[in-house]
Amino acid sequence: MSSTHQVVITQPDPESDDFEFAVTCPSINCSLWMRCKDCSHEPTEQETAASEYFAHDVDHSLIDGEWMTDTEQCAANATESGADGLSDLAHQFGPSTQQFDVDYWGDGVWDIIHVPSEVEK
Ligand SMILES: [Zn+2]
Ligand SMILES: [Zn+2]
Repeated sequence: MSSTHQVVITQPDPESDDFEFAVTCPSINCSLWMRCKDCSHEPTEQETAASEYFAHDVDHSLIDGEWMTDTEQCAANATESGADGLSDLAHQFGPSTQQFDVDYWGDGVWDIIHVPSEVEK
């Protein structure tokens, strides 16, 4: 499944290196999962084996050894690694519209993968 995002990169002040990003998010494969803070649920062996359980109306998944829940925030917007990836795009291409995929690399790090725009026919 494609998780292609679009970002409009603008540079309000050409003298500075500050870029602004307007990300269009398809909400696919990019949702940020965070360790559940309000969990008193003790996962059973079966749940641990399946790497998931359902408690207090939320799905939990075992990711990197932590029980995580979906924050429904886009990792490109909500993480430091996402911000770094966008910043790299800005420095590479300058003010422009770019497409990228978001991929979970592991260890809390997200990859922003540039998708070259298709050649116009
Ligand atoms: Zn929980
Ligand atoms: Zn997203």
